[in-house]
Amino acid sequence: MADGQRLMAVSRRPCKTMPTIFSHAIFSTALGAAYATEPMPKRFWFLVAMCSVLPDFDVLAFNLGIPYRSVWGHRGFTHSALFAVLAGCVIAWTAFRQEELVTMKRSRISLAIFFSVATISHLALDSLTNGGLGVAALWPFENARYFAPWRPIRVSPIGADFFSAYGMQVLANEIVWIWLPALTMVAATRLFQRTVLTANTN
Ligand SMILES: [Zn+2]
Repeated sequence: MADGQRLMAVSRRPCKTMPTIFSHAIFSTALGAAYATEPMPKRFWFLVAMCSVLPDFDVLAFNLGIPYRSVWGHRGFTHSALFAVLAGCVIAWTAFRQEELVTMKRSRISLAIFFSVATISHLALDSLTNGGLGVAALWPFENARYFAPWRPIRVSPIGADFFSAYGMQVLANEIVWIWLPALTMVAATRLFQRTVLTANTN
């Protein structure tokens, strides 16, 4: 099947229009590694991965017969900045005890901003994909679906298709456009912390 035909076929199966959950989790974990300056509890890392895939729980809408284009459907309200901020606040104010904040050297507001950004990373990656509908990033102010002007990430197959030749192409594509930038971000942050921040404390 030609590449264009394959993308059209994938677009007709809307629940397959996303980067893989692994890539979402890898990117948000890289954000966490850049954010953390102290050893973080395991719960922190679990929630970092969870919030990066949380918006895609809306695929359940397909089972409920909710249309893809509906704001209650896939890439609808759960793919909005408001949803991400609410998720970040709920996590920050319910998931960590006060003494853990001291150990992590982070305030609840700092954690709320971080977990909001980690959730927004899901929207950002989805908007870079080349199939399906865009994300309802500005809901409830606008129901329009948005894509980034440049969309290098291929839509991802799920299940058995993932082990097909096309699945391997998707994996290679995500390594280039998600995994490598994520690793670069962690390396650059670590280098900055070791050089600039260490120099300032000496
Ligand atoms: Zn998504």
